Amino acid sequence: MKRIAVFTSGGDAPGMNACVRAVVRTALYHNVEVYGIVRAYDGMISGDFIPLEFNSVSNIIQRGGTILKSARCDEFRTVEGRRKAAKQLKKFNIDGVVAIGGDGTFTGAQIFTKEHGIPFIGCPGTIDNDLFGTDNTIGYDTALNTVIEAVDKIRDTADAHDRLFFVEVMGRDAGFIALRSGIAVGADAVLIPETATFVDSLIKRLERGRAHRKTSSIIIVAEGDDGGGAYEVARKVKEKYNQYETKVTVLGHIQRGGSPSAYDRVLASMLGKAAVEALLEGRRNEMAGVVNKKVAFTSFQRAIKHNREINKELLHLAESLA
Ligand code: ATP
Repeated sequence: MKRIAVFTSGGDAPGMNACVRAVVRTALYHNVEVYGIVRAYDGMISGDFIPLEFNSVSNIIQRGGTILKSARCDEFRTVEGRRKAAKQLKKFNIDGVVAIGGDGTFTGAQIFTKEHGIPFIGCPGTIDNDLFGTDNTIGYDTALNTVIEAVDKIRDTADAHDRLFFVEVMGRDAGFIALRSGIAVGADAVLIPETATFVDSLIKRLERGRAHRKTSSIIIVAEGDDGGGAYEVARKVKEKYNQYETKVTVLGHIQRGGSPSAYDRVLASMLGKAAVEALLEGRRNEMAGVVNKKVAFTSFQRAIKHNREINKELLHLAESLA
């Protein structure tokens, strides 16, 4: 393998830059040239490739976002789009590709490798932590810390005014951010897509809290919760229970931004290195992850969404401590 490419795709996540840096530095260490593909599959189709040198990735380990930009690309979902992408990779003599992204990115990579034979290795770069085959995805730890910092501030004002706060966090299909941050902030309830939301039992819980002289409450709601998101759940609760002044905060994109945590920087560095070395060893169509502190590889097929289940013990912990 003489030349590889790297790109970042899907929703951006803190730590993607640290991963790009590790890919570039590891490849150069093994005398392999590296190209960065700008704007993910979009740039792959249009041929937006840039050579990356040692210094191209200096001073980026601490930066959120991604220097290679990210994009969602519908054309790559078509046979013709992927044919154009393959043509560009061949034109630039790319022998292997490191894809940093989430389940959609790996779904596309898997289809592409079957059609065109160019090997891909994935690094899990998504704040959602919804991939099977890694304890954490790159960006998840930083996003959790961002949520916790924000909710701690909300709690101060909630306490001062006897308020019930519904805080919506990211997670369209998965409740990992909501559950773990809910435990970390001592939320009164955590509403996630994996479990059904019953407004009556939520109200019972709030009543129990009031019986213990609780004057304020925080409910964490994953955006994909079946109750309909924080605004909708708050409306339904207020209809039946108006002991509190009810407020809603949607944290939104602040969860994606910011400098990556120490954990995410180290994880991204380990996985970027592992991905390049996996390509050099002849692996393909696999995601590099960390399981029990060791690098492990999982096929794209197994890694992608819905194979990862919510941790029932954490769910029980959140409920029992609330
Ligand atoms: P995140 O978890 O942060 O959303 P992701 O990788 O899941 O990241 P997606 O937008 O789902 O993000 O996917 C990224 C890109 O992967 C899409 O824009 C598209 O170009 C490609 N992709 C996704 N699904 C497919 C598919 N079934 N076939 C071909 N390409 C796909």
